[in-house]
Amino acid sequence: MSLPASVTVQDERGNFVFVNDAAAAQFNMSAHDIVGAVPGAAFRCKELNDRRDIVAGVLQSGRVRTSEERIRTDLASKVYLTTHRPVQVSNRQLLLSSSIDVSQQKAIEEELFRCAYYDELTDLPTRRVIEQCVGSLIREQGSSARFAMAFLDIDNFKHINDYYGHASGDALLVEVARRLSLGLRDTDMLSRISGDEFLLLLNPIRNEAEVADYIEFLLQRLKAPFFIDGSELFASASIGVSIYPDHGGDYEMLRQNADIAMYRVKNETKGAAVLFNDGMQQEALARMAIEQSLRLAILDKRFCCAFQPKVDIRTQQVRGIEALVRLRDDDGVIQAPGTFIDLAVELGLIDELTHLVLAEIMKSIDLIDDTFGTGVSISINVAAKQAGNLAFMTSFAQALEETGCPTRFIVEVTEDAFVAKTHFQTEILPILRRLGVGVSIDDFGIGYSSLSALADITADEIKIDRSFIVDIHKRPRSQGILKAIESLSEALGMTVIAEGVETFEELAYLQAATRIKYAQGFYFSKPVFLEELTTGSAAMSDSRAASVSRPVQESRPAYSRARGFGR
Ligand code: C2E
Ligand code: MG
Ligand code: MG
Repeated sequence: MSLPASVTVQDERGNFVFVNDAAAAQFNMSAHDIVGAVPGAAFRCKELNDRRDIVAGVLQSGRVRTSEERIRTDLASKVYLTTHRPVQVSNRQLLLSSSIDVSQQKAIEEELFRCAYYDELTDLPTRRVIEQCVGSLIREQGSSARFAMAFLDIDNFKHINDYYGHASGDALLVEVARRLSLGLRDTDMLSRISGDEFLLLLNPIRNEAEVADYIEFLLQRLKAPFFIDGSELFASASIGVSIYPDHGGDYEMLRQNADIAMYRVKNETKGAAVLFNDGMQQEALARMAIEQSLRLAILDKRFCCAFQPKVDIRTQQVRGIEALVRLRDDDGVIQAPGTFIDLAVELGLIDELTHLVLAEIMKSIDLIDDTFGTGVSISINVAAKQAGNLAFMTSFAQALEETGCPTRFIVEVTEDAFVAKTHFQTEILPILRRLGVGVSIDDFGIGYSSLSALADITADEIKIDRSFIVDIHKRPRSQGILKAIESLSEALGMTVIAEGVETFEELAYLQAATRIKYAQGFYFSKPVFLEELTTGSAAMSDSRAASVSRPVQESRPAYSRARGFGR
């Protein structure tokens, strides 16, 4: 009898009286051996013995019983859905069992379950699992429960991904997960809740000090180098901690507050941990308010540009100007980019903002020429993230071309854009080159700062970060670094600009001890609003810059509008 389903018939004592071919194959025995077995003797196949054991129970109940059977033979492991049905045949009570192979459906089901509840990369439980676990802990133990939730975010993970590639990023995540899981108790749980974010449940806890000690221990454990793909990587995590019931009565509140605490660490030291407190809640609300007003400001185009000249330090001539964006907030107060650029990048608003800056510049182009001299170069800052984004840079290059004077523009990007594994060097630079748009490396020295990487970079200009220029006349170490950058840049044909010159002494050092030709800084001019210059207002500089006091220097070269910014 050849049926797709396997069928067996057993008598009331459990002995097999009929076994079809499919059933014989299911147990990896011949039908003859099963039916002809000595009554009551044990089979080699455990599942056949199990079948014998259930007969009495099913026949007595008189009811159909369905169950899943996992059968492992020498050949395979399969799952069957088996129905046992009591039947009466000429006064004999028999058990008719039929099975169908559901291995494939079962495998899919198990895969779906794993996907929903376990992270594929690290094999850690997902957000859903830790959420349910915390939920049931609170339901079952109420306010007598005391546990901690730690929100961990790997620092600069994006950089690691960009610089070493996604495969190394993934390998790092797996290794971080392994280190964090070491020695956890059965009642603790580590979950990967998204990209580089982990949530750790520590349950139960006795007090805050105990939690702080353990988290500190984890931070130390993460500090040891990771060996990935032949490279030695260093990683750290920022951690925010909330405690039940003090910082929230449910999962969502606890997660959110741990996240807020983590965010605080990110913005300050990184690689550290902090416990949530109510003050942080206020900060988070303030941040949300900025976020809201930023979105509104972009809608209302409430941006303006301040311009700061790049000056020839020996002739005081203006070589170019840099456009620095400012935001007029809801109350009309001017905000410097430090308060909103990172947020604009994070919220995906930066591309629109950069286009607005260019539009602003073009609106004032005649005024720019009148103020600083016809044809001065105009620098625009582009965030590293944008610089590697082919779609944005293509549209931005097109906008630069449409100005009719693309060769006047210089795009300022930080080193990250060059070293990150993005399209910048290979695809975007050639587009800018074709248009004659200049490229400048901004804030050099505080990013990867690799002098050897400089050799691969094809930029027109390099701007040495202000941190090297501050008190340069008194700092031999910075002087040495400056010299090295200077000679390398010279060899590579890049113009060097010293950023943030504030004092006469700094300038005097640059003039006397270096061949650096250009500088930018409050000593020459703070960023200025053009309207203020033309209306002859005394307040020539923007609100933030104005708060920095200018040195009173008799010997300071008069740098004024009267000299027409070098005209
Ligand atoms: P940056 O491109 O390095 O610009 C130089 C910053 O240093 C400006 O700050 C300028 O006001 C300040 N600065 C200039 N001279 C001195 C000095 O002598 N002393 C001191 N203490 N500071 C000086 P600002 O305008 O606040 O801009 C900060 C950063 O924001 C810029 O740094 C740039 O990275 C970014 N940014 C500005 N505008 C834009 C923009 O339109 N798009 C993007 N993506 N970023 C922008
Ligand atoms: Mg800049
Ligand atoms: Mg800079």
